[in-house]
Amino acid sequence: MTPAERFAAKVTAGPISLTRGAPGPCHLWTGGARSKRPHDAGQFGEYYGAFHVNGRTVRAHQFAYEQARGPIPAGAEVDHRCRRRNCVAIAHLELVDHRTNTLRSTGPTALNARKTACHRGHPFTPDNTRVRTNGSRRCITCERTRPATERTAA
Ligand SMILES: [Zn+2]
Ligand SMILES: [Zn+2]
Repeated sequence: MTPAERFAAKVTAGPISLTRGAPGPCHLWTGGARSKRPHDAGQFGEYYGAFHVNGRTVRAHQFAYEQARGPIPAGAEVDHRCRRRNCVAIAHLELVDHRTNTLRSTGPTALNARKTACHRGHPFTPDNTRVRTNGSRRCITCERTRPATERTAA
């Protein structure tokens, strides 16, 4: 069996996608998952599929994309228009840069980035925002007005 045949044997027809720009049904991966930790589950409780090929483990949807469209450029990743992480339907996959995908997903970074103001209502303008290495944002106005003792503790 070729890798493509092994791959196809683990894909089953799924529900019609209700997301705009994702025509037709999802093709759901029934093979192994990359992780089964609840933290990594998508909005439908699904997980990114894992596929073993040439001694490597790759994400199932990435393999599907590369089979159809060619290699994924550095810095880019394959995103699901249908929002189902275990879908490998080519019509539902598109190349996006890493940041776009993070913002579009429903993870904590994405939810945070969509907020336009801090919890006290100061706007997250470029001048008033400090982005930490983990992607979370701090309000500079709040940091300035916080007592020095508290600032050291944080
Ligand atoms: Zn899909
Ligand atoms: Zn603030």
